[in-house]
Amino acid sequence: MQPLRGTKDLLPNEIIFWQYIYNKAFNLLSLSNYREIRTPIIESTDLFQRGIGNDTDIINKEMYSFNDQSNRRITLRPEGTASIARSFISNKLYQSNKIERFWYFAPMFRYERPQNGRQRQFHQLGIECIGSMNPIADVEVIRLANNLLYELECYNFDIEINSIGNINERNIYKKELINYLIKYKQDLDSDSQKRLYTNPLRILDSKNEITKNIISNGPSLKDYLQYSSIEHFHAVCEQLNYLNIKYQINDKLIRGLDYYNDTAFEIKTKSTGNQNTICGGGRYDSLIQELGGPNTPSVGWAIGIERLLSIIKQNIKIQQLNPTIYIAIQGKEAQIKSWEIINTLEKEKIHFELNLENNSFQKQIKKADKSGASVCIILGNNEIINKSITLKILNKGIQKTIVEEDLIKELRKLKIS
Ligand code: ATP
Ligand code: MG
Repeated sequence: MQPLRGTKDLLPNEIIFWQYIYNKAFNLLSLSNYREIRTPIIESTDLFQRGIGNDTDIINKEMYSFNDQSNRRITLRPEGTASIARSFISNKLYQSNKIERFWYFAPMFRYERPQNGRQRQFHQLGIECIGSMNPIADVEVIRLANNLLYELECYNFDIEINSIGNINERNIYKKELINYLIKYKQDLDSDSQKRLYTNPLRILDSKNEITKNIISNGPSLKDYLQYSSIEHFHAVCEQLNYLNIKYQINDKLIRGLDYYNDTAFEIKTKSTGNQNTICGGGRYDSLIQELGGPNTPSVGWAIGIERLLSIIKQNIKIQQLNPTIYIAIQGKEAQIKSWEIINTLEKEKIHFELNLENNSFQKQIKKADKSGASVCIILGNNEIINKSITLKILNKGIQKTIVEEDLIKELRKLKIS
């Protein structure tokens, strides 16, 4: 039996890294008043079609969709923002008329070709700042992405930022871009040829050298932006400069989801490899309204956890948690007695492991050695008769018998409690 292609088990030795990231995010994001949100993994397919846009890769070929028993069209969420926008509307959070700040840490599903840094079930840590048009909101979220990466000891990255303007500006630009590209249609890579009429803006971030060359001589989106879009973008850049957050303006940066406007950004690691984008985000002022809510400008980002971990894992020093005490028992009365000892250890917050095999003490002590514990508590008939406990200090091979009541005192002497 194997997990499905593109999915992975996260075993306990791996999960400690995930908990580390979760805790760092929780601590940092809480300070800026971001609160965790958990939305369902399944949503109506329609939500993503309306939210993400029909001519995008996600909708066209990456969705995990199925009909449920009542023939409803259901999709495993491919990203977090559409669900959170839906939740904002469903729960009428707009009624309180305040800025909502959310963060999430959750599995996402995309039917892609699995490779390094690209899975079918992957995880994103994301934030959404809902309800502000102010460029300060863009800066708040970019700053948090930057600071969270620093907090996680990830320093080797570039922030790329662009303004993709509003829908009118993009529509005018799109026409000009198509007019220009049509002349070179035969020379474009085949993906870009297909996108020419469906989603021409995506051609801008093509990786194909010939296509890139054609694009570089074509019209540039920034020349189609009007005053208010330019002003917004300037304000964001100015504040980032003030904060000394390094970024590069990349005027070819176009995000793969339709709902973005104005600020769009990505964070790329400088390490080699194809999947080096660890974070993507931007402003989405019309999404909530398009889904049936009130006009609610918003901005956010998502970090891919697997890609992030592949970079930072070697720098994280986390100790695997081994039990401190191993409890070896033999005989029914010793078994009963062990519950008392367990209660005491729990009260003292001492990590223990109870032997479950009821075989010879010799075998149990071997297990104790392997468990990584530093002390083995031995409880057999002798101990029951004498109301005593035998302690074996595992790495020293020292053994001593103590009176029951002295257990915690003895453990303290051994610096265990
Ligand atoms: P890419 O261009 O690599 O497909 P994307 O633009 O589709 O990325 P976003 O939708 O912006 O990605 O998601 C934000 C982040 O989530 C990405 O930067 C990446 O770190 C991570 N991510 C996206 N898709 C996957 C995947 N299939 N497997 C692992 N991580 C992913
Ligand atoms: Mg993708």
